[in-house]
Amino acid sequence: DAERLAAELRRMAGSSYGRYKALVGDWDFGDFTLTVRRVQADPFAPPSRIEVRVPARVAELPGDAWRTPVRRRATADYLARHAHRVLRGSRLRIDAGGQEVIERASCRIAEGAVELRLGIDLPGHGRRIDARAAEHELCERLPGLVAALPWPALDTAEATAFADTVEDAVALRDRLPELGLVAFVADASMLPRRSGVSDLPMIGDAVPFRSPESLRVTVKLPHSGEISGLGVPEGITLIVGGGFHGKSTLLHALERGVYDHVPGDGREFVVTRADAVKIRAEEGRRVERTDVSAFVRNLPTGADTVDFRTENASGSTSQAANIAEALEAGAGTLLVDEDTTATNLMIRDARMQALVHGDREPLTPFVDLVRPLHRRFGVSTVLVMGGSGDYFDVADQVVMLDEYRPYDVTDGARKLAADRTDAEFRMPTPRVVDPRSVDAHDRGRPRVKRRDMDVLTFGSSDIDVRGLVQLVDPSQVIGVGLALRTLAEEGLLDGERTLADALDALDARVAESGVTAIGRGHAGDYALPRRFEVAAALNRLRTLRVLR
Ligand code: ADP
Ligand code: MG
Repeated sequence: DAERLAAELRRMAGSSYGRYKALVGDWDFGDFTLTVRRVQADPFAPPSRIEVRVPARVAELPGDAWRTPVRRRATADYLARHAHRVLRGSRLRIDAGGQEVIERASCRIAEGAVELRLGIDLPGHGRRIDARAAEHELCERLPGLVAALPWPALDTAEATAFADTVEDAVALRDRLPELGLVAFVADASMLPRRSGVSDLPMIGDAVPFRSPESLRVTVKLPHSGEISGLGVPEGITLIVGGGFHGKSTLLHALERGVYDHVPGDGREFVVTRADAVKIRAEEGRRVERTDVSAFVRNLPTGADTVDFRTENASGSTSQAANIAEALEAGAGTLLVDEDTTATNLMIRDARMQALVHGDREPLTPFVDLVRPLHRRFGVSTVLVMGGSGDYFDVADQVVMLDEYRPYDVTDGARKLAADRTDAEFRMPTPRVVDPRSVDAHDRGRPRVKRRDMDVLTFGSSDIDVRGLVQLVDPSQVIGVGLALRTLAEEGLLDGERTLADALDALDARVAESGVTAIGRGHAGDYALPRRFEVAAALNRLRTLRVLR
């Protein structure tokens, strides 16, 4: 078929671009099968989509590289990165990850066979087919890629170390509950990043992480053996320290610790429980019938805060909604940074209480709720707060960062603590979503697109996803849209089930069949999102309606 494809391309030489459509279908190259799935309409349209299947006998992957789901994900991720390097300078494109190892559709291993999904910018001279260039891509570059993928062609030590690192991180994360921890930061980790827009490790003199002895925990990993580091216990952990001493950098690392990292990242063994959700204020967001009554009551507008809705939330109400919705979706750990919170929802000091009486203040500050959240509902909080000592009253442990080094200052903080009466916390009422309000179609056609990492276009709506800081990969943005589509079109949102139950059902499907459980025939790239980001996007969808 390789010859047949070359001949077909030569026949197309100089024809109008639309004739490329004749390529759609399967082409058997012997060592692999090429499937041309979708052909772009013109040279300026998004790339055409092809799939490549390399059978197990050619790929020669040892069972150890793919037999467990974790190693399968890791090796597939490694292969995608390798393919990305091999394809540099060609018109073929493969979606490969950044610093995180996230299951994606671009490379999958099935029973030892390797399946790739690629984009190709089919070449044209103006609106005519450039057959010679197309032949070069499909009949030379593509077989060249396939020749670079089999196990014997790889740096197998590197590939194995990649999977070992991911497997260690997963094992470490899995052990957190039995250790009574919500997070772990290994000694010698490198937390700071190159810049606000680059997730690569900082260049130059970063200070390696070193745990304080009193909070040091030692864990044995399957491949790396014994490692020690800071164990962040369940309960309420306060991170304090002067400005610029590394507090936010530590919290960012914890946010990302729900994902696995590539070797060399510096955060390979910084892990956080999978149900940890970053909470922040997000002024201006829409809220649809969320129960924020634990935080907000008696608004001057008379709005019902058990069933709160607004097109334009304030800093504090947006943060209250973000907490309530995270809890509704099943969050077990909240990560909070003073830099991105609404102060009036976090604290109210004694002098303000004396001036503005309780009955005039609709907000119950988080400091009065954080303890009942843990004691009654088992939800832990890790909080950065350098500007106020109010949380000394409620913290179970206090870590101070000083020149990027953490110290256990719990005893000192306790001496300064005052008695504090907790407010009562009620879990938000679980909601049932109206499935008709979640429609992936725009004028009859499914539409799931993204603009950078900022906007998810879902059907006829644009969803602002900038506040979803634990959405870390462009392909995850598409993954969120596809997950919403799956929820809506496969009966998971059925008008009866609560949102949390629908998310459980979605997770069960993903656990069963992996990332393609959300694929629904989508030809483009996508990666697996977490349920929390799926719920968050749904909660920001302008058409969303809640039945009860
Ligand atoms: P804070 O939140 O305490 O004000 P940040 O976490 O924002 O401080 O860190 C301040 C600066 O220090 C950032 O530019 C960050 O990249 C840098 N930084 C953080 N941790 C380290 C480290 N371990 N080594 C070197 N630089 C660091
Ligand atoms: Mg900060």
